[in-house]
This record gives sequence, C-alpha cells and structure tokens, in this order.
Amino acid sequence: MPKARRDLSVDVERYFRADAEVAGNIAKTIGAMAAELKAKGRDRIRIMNFCGTHEWTTTHYGIRSLLPANVEMISGPGCPVCVTPANYVDTCIRLALEGVRIYSYGDAFRLPNTKAVSNARSLEEAKALGGDVKVVYSFLDAMKDAREYGRDCVFLGIGFETTMPSYSEPLAHGMLPGNLYFLSALRLTPPAAAFALDKVGGVDGIIAPGHVSVITGASAWSPIAERFNTPAVVSGFEPLDLLISIAGLLNQISRGEHKVEIEYRRAVAWDGNEKVMASISKVFKEADAAWRGIGVIPASGLELREEYSKNDAKSRFGIEDPTKKTWTEDLPEGCRCGEVTLGLIKPTDCPLFLVACTPEKPYGPCMVSSEGTCAVWARYGGGGLADQVAAETEAKG
Ligand code: SF4
Repeated sequence: MPKARRDLSVDVERYFRADAEVAGNIAKTIGAMAAELKAKGRDRIRIMNFCGTHEWTTTHYGIRSLLPANVEMISGPGCPVCVTPANYVDTCIRLALEGVRIYSYGDAFRLPNTKAVSNARSLEEAKALGGDVKVVYSFLDAMKDAREYGRDCVFLGIGFETTMPSYSEPLAHGMLPGNLYFLSALRLTPPAAAFALDKVGGVDGIIAPGHVSVITGASAWSPIAERFNTPAVVSGFEPLDLLISIAGLLNQISRGEHKVEIEYRRAVAWDGNEKVMASISKVFKEADAAWRGIGVIPASGLELREEYSKNDAKSRFGIEDPTKKTWTEDLPEGCRCGEVTLGLIKPTDCPLFLVACTPEKPYGPCMVSSEGTCAVWARYGGGGLADQVAAETEAKG
C-alpha cells in the first residue's frame, strides 16, 4: 500500500509566499488530474526531473509533499559535478602537487576522488598539502590570473550546455593566454537523459532543464519525447514553474500525448540561441564521454577541436579519457551515486547517507554540489523544511 501523503496546503502561503493562492489552485488541479488518471488504472505516474536545480526546488519547497500518492518525482543525472569522472580529479590533484596551477569552481574543489592521490582525496586536500589550487568564480577570472601568473595553469572545465558559451567565446576569439590549458569535462544533457530513461524504464514524463534549453532550444528534447513516447515540459526553477510543469505533463498523459511544451517561455525558445550554439560548435566537437558512476555514453561530451589544441590540457599533459573498454565504476566503495544519479534509488536507500557521508564531509560525488541529489536531500529532505512543514500541519490537526 503506498503511504498516504499528508496535506500541507495550510502552509502553502508561508512557503510559496505571494503566489500562495495560485500554488494552491495548481496543486488542486494536479490532484484532480491525478485522481482521474488513477480512476483509469494509473496507480503510479513517474516524472523525472533531469536537472539538479529542479531537484533542489522540488525538495527545498516540499513539492513532493503536495503531490498525490500516485505521482512520483524522481531525479535524473543533471548535476555536472556529480558526473565528472574521478580521473579528472586525480589528474588535477597530481598536477597541482607537481606545481601546475589548477583553477576550479567551488563545488568541484571538494569533489572526492575514489582513491587518494599522494594522500589527497580532493583538490581541497591537495591545496592543504601545498598543491597550487585556486577557486575562481568565472573562466574570465582564471584567464586574468593566468595572464598575471605566466606559468602553466589548467582550468577544470565542468558543466552542461549552460556554461559552454562562457568557454567557447573566449576560446573562439583567441583570448586565452598561452599558458592556460582547458580541461574539458563538458557534458551534453539530452544523450544522458535518453540513457537514464532507458535504464530506469517506465518514466511517464520529463521535466526538461530550463537553463540548458535557453541554449539548445526546447527542440533538443523532441527526439527523446518521440523515442520514449514520453511528454516533456521545459520548466523554469521557481516552485510555481514546477507545479505548472507537472500539471502540463499530467494533462498530456491523460490525453495520451508526448509533445515537448515550454513552460519557461520567459527564457526559452523552440530553436534556442543559434548564435551561441554556433560558437560552441566552432570550438568543440562531440565525443563519447564517461559519466561518473554511470559509464560511457555515446556522443555525450565535448572535446576541443584540433584548431584549439594549443590550449588543450589533454594534449599538453597527456590526459586520457576513459573509453568503453577502460571505464570502471569510479565511485568510492559503497557509494551508490550511480544509481541515485539515474533515479534508480533514493539517497536514503544508501546506507552511508548522513552516516558516513554528509554535506560537511562528503564521501561520494552526489553529496558535494548544491545540485547533487544526496546533498539536496541531506539539507532539505529527511529533516529540514519538508519535515518542519509536515510537523506544523499535523500539529494544526
Ligand atoms: Fe554516495 Fe554519499 Fe550519496 Fe551514498 S549518500 S550515494 S555515499 S554521495
């Protein structure tokens, strides 16, 4: 028997602020549509939110608690830090300890590898051991610092389509100093979404990432909707965006449709940003790429084209990417991030969750970034806001 959800509507006003009435009405609409579907035998409707930021909104605002028992939200592989292969972390640790300056964003700074390299399990630990690691807020910051520094530097380039223009534009315009090398760990989201849908099976609807779709356009999700007969809604990141997107998916499911709809119309067009896509294609080419804990997904990564090899960290330092033959599950022993990332299990199914793995001391990669499903659940899931709202609701009877 599925556990009955508690009615949290009394606290909608507090947590959805000025949009309380709208949120309440959409939640009622979702409830009515889900009831109709249940009457037609749909006891379990599974919706995958691909993106880590959507998982954050879903969990932080307790959206799962507003959904009827037959509507389930599962998270997908949309956290770029979580899926960055351990060999990139290992390589950057080694280079940092050898005196090459490594630039990293703050979340990747704490990303744990699988086995310690020279006693360091992360760039943070490498820095503590004397390695040259600098946390930066942008690629431009790294370029400025590298120009002043003058010696070999590597930028750990992690990200999805959203961040790609920030790399492709300076590269395309020859703005990188000769001593700055770009280590591409860039990943493409639609191939990973297709891979996850294949692995999980039986997903009834997709919430597609709004920020990625600003670049790619909503059309990027059309082949997936077609292939899996699954409706998709490109969603924004406010709680109301997600509620509207869920209602849109249920509407399509009840009609037997599998179209791509755009909820995030204030930012996303069907064809995306063609100028930016041209800049990305000019600098990068598609390649098979490893996703941490998951495996090698065909044509799911970007590598620098030959013309930009003078700034390519892989050719400069002889870094080899895992291939289908060489890839091994690159997670610390006992970490179940691969399954969490694919939506096969929940973070709470991992015996290490909030025991040996916490946001303060992450053991696995999904516990590091604010977009990692385990980190999101640790902060806002078991305990946190959702339980607080539930407790207040129960107290009010
Ligand atoms: Fe990995 Fe930690 Fe998540 Fe378990 S709780 S799956 S160890 S990140």
